[in-house]
Amino acid sequence: MMKFDAHAHSIVSDGTQSPAALIETAAAAGLDFIALTDHDTDAGIAEARRAGENSGVEVIAGIEMSSTYGGISAHILAYLPDSKNPELEQVLTRIRHSRVTRAWQMAQNLAVDYPNANWEQFDSSGDRPWGRPHLADALVAAGYFSNRDEAFTWALSPKGPYYVHQWSPTPPEAVEVIRRAHGVPVLAHPFSARRRALPEAVVAEMVEAGLFGIERDHREHDSRARFRADRLAQGANLETTGGSDYHGAGKPNRLGENLTAPEVLEKILEQGYSGRK
Ligand code: AMP
Ligand code: FE
Ligand code: FE
Ligand code: ZN
Repeated sequence: MMKFDAHAHSIVSDGTQSPAALIETAAAAGLDFIALTDHDTDAGIAEARRAGENSGVEVIAGIEMSSTYGGISAHILAYLPDSKNPELEQVLTRIRHSRVTRAWQMAQNLAVDYPNANWEQFDSSGDRPWGRPHLADALVAAGYFSNRDEAFTWALSPKGPYYVHQWSPTPPEAVEVIRRAHGVPVLAHPFSARRRALPEAVVAEMVEAGLFGIERDHREHDSRARFRADRLAQGANLETTGGSDYHGAGKPNRLGENLTAPEVLEKILEQGYSGRK
């Protein structure tokens, strides 16, 4: 059986392995296809593709784009977009800039109560998609928490006193931008118990805007969430996907623990800009 893991992160965003090392791990896990889906950037794709050519793993170019609706954050996977599309580039650059500003603001808030962490690293005008996992790593390195998960339960929670929002487009806008760049948009982990779900009306707008599918098979989806995903997919004529959401050592998720069907990969390759070489 052909194995396609449609969701993985490298150190280019908040994973812990280089794109090349990620591909080696994918080969060892017996994957045939892997989508590299770093948060708000495709900067790791070229390295991953080169590594893939040597190891027999085919890399599907992806991005996990941030979006926000009324304080609810939703992640949208974009497969095989035209990476040179100016509108897509502009939106992603704006999100990353907002991430840099926001990481610095949160670092300053956290420094009041957690002074011994290396907060200076976030004081840059760089273009990295800094996220809360990086702030978590700084807290862990300074000995305040024993892992990312512990840092998230209080210090980095939106309900905690240090949290700062970042800018991102609304979910329907994100779908439109991805489709205009000839990418294939999939709503990531829509029913994760760890996050607030989007209102149904917003998902309907996303469908209207050209949503391709929803991620059904994901570690944060229990059987009830998967059932809801099936019902939504049937009602709105959407495809369902699966992926590990691998973050290296940053999360327990293992490559290949959830997979996407070959027929769905086939459609992604047909609809994506850079599907066929
Ligand atoms: P941000 O986009 O900066 O708000 O951070 C959200 C990211 O943090 C998600 O995409 C996950 O990759 C990661 N994350 C969320 N909760 C946890 C957790 N409990 N442990 C480790 N990583 C987490
Ligand atoms: Fe992440
Ligand atoms: Fe996500
Ligand atoms: Zn992810």
